[in-house]
Amino acid sequence: MQPAWKKFSENLDINEKGHLLIGQHDAVELAKEFGTPLYVLDEDMMRLCCRRFNQAMQEHYDGNGLCHFACKALCTMHTARVTAEEGLGADVVSGGEVYTLYKAGFPMEKAYFHGNNKTADEIELAIDCGVGHFIVDNRYELDMLNEIAEKKGVVQKILFRIKPGVDAHVHEFVKTGQIDSKFGVALENGEAEEIHRYALGLKNVQVDGVHCHIASGVFEAGPFLEAAEVMMDFIAKLKEKYGIEAKILNLGGGFGVAYDEEDEPLPIGEYIKQVADTIKRIAKEKGLELPYLVFEPGRAIVAQAGVTLYTVGGVKPIENVRTYVSVDGGMGDNPRYLMYQAKYTALLANKAAEENVAPVTIAGKCCESGDLIQEHVMMPELKVGDILAVLGTGAYNYSMASNYNRIPRPAMVALRGAEKRIVVKRETYEDIIRNDII
Ligand SMILES: *Cc1c(COP(=O)(O)O)cnc(C)c1O
Repeated sequence: MQPAWKKFSENLDINEKGHLLIGQHDAVELAKEFGTPLYVLDEDMMRLCCRRFNQAMQEHYDGNGLCHFACKALCTMHTARVTAEEGLGADVVSGGEVYTLYKAGFPMEKAYFHGNNKTADEIELAIDCGVGHFIVDNRYELDMLNEIAEKKGVVQKILFRIKPGVDAHVHEFVKTGQIDSKFGVALENGEAEEIHRYALGLKNVQVDGVHCHIASGVFEAGPFLEAAEVMMDFIAKLKEKYGIEAKILNLGGGFGVAYDEEDEPLPIGEYIKQVADTIKRIAKEKGLELPYLVFEPGRAIVAQAGVTLYTVGGVKPIENVRTYVSVDGGMGDNPRYLMYQAKYTALLANKAAEENVAPVTIAGKCCESGDLIQEHVMMPELKVGDILAVLGTGAYNYSMASNYNRIPRPAMVALRGAEKRIVVKRETYEDIIRNDII
C-alpha cells in the first residue's frame, strides 16, 4: 500500500530496508552521517517547484511576468543561489535578507523589498545593493525613501502595497488583505488613491505598479481572482484619474501546500491559469494593456522540499492521558505548532514501512509546555534512538529558528541527485556565546 504522505511529496519513498528515502538518500543514513536534529533540503524538489511556477507563467501568460521566491520562507545563501539559477526573482523583507542575497550573488534588480517598517539603514543598504523595486508600505516610508534616494542621486522604482479588502478564509495571523492589517494602504477609505496622488509630486521615486498579498496557505483560486479583479479596477482608476501607468501587477504569494492527507491544494498551473484568464478578461473590458504579472510564492517553493530529522529520546506514556515522545529539537528549529498549531505529517524514518499502532504527541526539548511538534500522531512502536522525520518543513522552519534555551540551530544538508552537501553548518556552543561580553 502507498503511504498517504506520498501524495504530497513525490520525491519521498521507502527503500528496501523500510527506511524513508528522500530523493536518492536514505534518511537514516543522513541522520547518522550529519547528526540530528537535521534540516534536509531536497534541492531537486525546490527546483521542480520553481520550474512549475516558471512553466505556468509561460504557458498561461506568455511569460509576461515573473515569480519571485519570498525568501523569508527559507533564506540562506544556498537557496538564494538556487533561486537565481532557476531564473526566479526574490522578495526580501529586511536588511538581513537583502545582505544574504547580495552576498550570494543574487541579481538584485530582480529583488523586491517588502516590509511595513523599513529603517533608514535598511533603505540605504537596499539602494546600495541595487534592489530593483521597493514595495512601499506607507507615507512615512515613502517620504524617507524619496529623501534617501535624492541624497544618493537615484530614482527608485516602487510599487505600493495595497489592502484590497479580500477575505481569504485563513487563520487571523496569516491574513493580510483586509483593512485591519498592519500592512499597506487600504482601498476602501481612499488611502491607496491618496498615496499615489502624493507620490506624483516626488522626484526620486517612480511608481511602476501595485502590489497586494492577501494571505498565506490559500487552497482555492477564488481569493486570488477576487484580488486580481479589485487590483485591475484600481489600475484602471489610477490611469483614468491621475494618468498613472501601473505596469506591474504583483499579486503576492500564499499558495497553500499539503501538510497532511486532508489538504488539497490546486496544482500551481491551475491558480495561475485562472488568475491570468481573469486579468486578460478585465484588461480587454477596460481597454488596458496587460500588466507584467508577478507572484511571490514562499511556502509553495520550499515547504515540500524540507524534511527535519530528529532522534527520539524519552517515550513517556501517561495512562489514560497520552504518550509523549521527546525529540532532540523542537520549537527552536520549528516554532510553528507553538505559534498557530500548524499541521505536520511525521513518521519514523527507520520504520517507515511498519504499521502504526498508537497515537503519540511529539514534544520538543525546550522548557515550555507548548513546545510540541504535533499532537495525536499515529506511530509504530517507538524506541529511544528511532529517527523521527517531520515532512514539509522547508518553509518557515529554519527561517523562524531561534536559540531559545541556548540550543544551537541544526545543520542543513542539501540533496541534489546523488550529491549531498552541508549548506548551513550546525551551530556550536561557541557560536552561542560569540556575541556575549562579560
Ligand atoms: C509572506 C509573504 C509572501 C509569501 O507567502 P507564502 O504563503 O509563503 O507564499 C509573499 N509576499 C508577501 C508580501 C509576504 O508577506
